[in-house]
Amino acid sequence: MTLTDVIEVLEAAYPPARAESWDAVGLVAGDPAQQVRRVLFAVDPVATVADEALAWGADMIVTHHPLYLRGTTSVAATTPKGRLVHTLIKNDIALYTAHTNADVANPGVSDALARAVGLVGDLVPLQPFPDDPWRGLGRIGELPERTTLDAFAARAAEGLPHTPGGLRVAGDPARPVSRVAVSGGAGDSLLAAAAAAGVDVFLTADLRHHPASEFVESGGPALIDAAHWATEWPWLDSAASILRESGVTVETRVSATVTDAWTRGY
Ligand SMILES: [Zn+2]
Repeated sequence: MTLTDVIEVLEAAYPPARAESWDAVGLVAGDPAQQVRRVLFAVDPVATVADEALAWGADMIVTHHPLYLRGTTSVAATTPKGRLVHTLIKNDIALYTAHTNADVANPGVSDALARAVGLVGDLVPLQPFPDDPWRGLGRIGELPERTTLDAFAARAAEGLPHTPGGLRVAGDPARPVSRVAVSGGAGDSLLAAAAAAGVDVFLTADLRHHPASEFVESGGPALIDAAHWATEWPWLDSAASILRESGVTVETRVSATVTDAWTRGY
């Protein structure tokens, strides 16, 4: 298989045209004609992930987060990003990113998150595209049965990969919950949509004190704040499955390296 063959499958699942205008998705490093046998999936394009790719003999890394979001004038190995570019090129490892185009896809990042925390049945976008009700940011789904916020948080913690910060919960632990909204990554911008959707709880990452406090004070849904990395990690297996089931004959592996920014909790 060539890199072009693999990219074709990924772009059918995650059309780059659906990425936000500020985003930088697609091929970051690599020759479209190069052979690809092993593909590593990871959330972050960082040194530990490149090391893992090298040790496993990967020809390609697919990450959720872009390496460069803004322009640069140098890829010298004097910065972490420049060093990563060197490692990739010296070892013939391609790097490809599916970011906001994977967030809004169906199935996308939040579908995988929803299943990981136990939601069942149909999932609908929390903020659908005006032209496509089945694609968009976040997902709303149902729990198999009504439970408490406390029990759901425990279930969610079990379903997500462990991180030192764990989950933070805002709201009455005894509050009944059955209808749940989730959004992988930073979900601040979807707070209003979660309130309007009338869900019992909204699970996302990177929530800040003031918006979260005001949201709960105003009687909105309960909030669960998880590690950014943990909310996006479940998508990796979903993306790897799409590649495996497409007929392209490549080996896939999901990186279990925890690359969340927060590495210790006290
Ligand atoms: Zn993210």
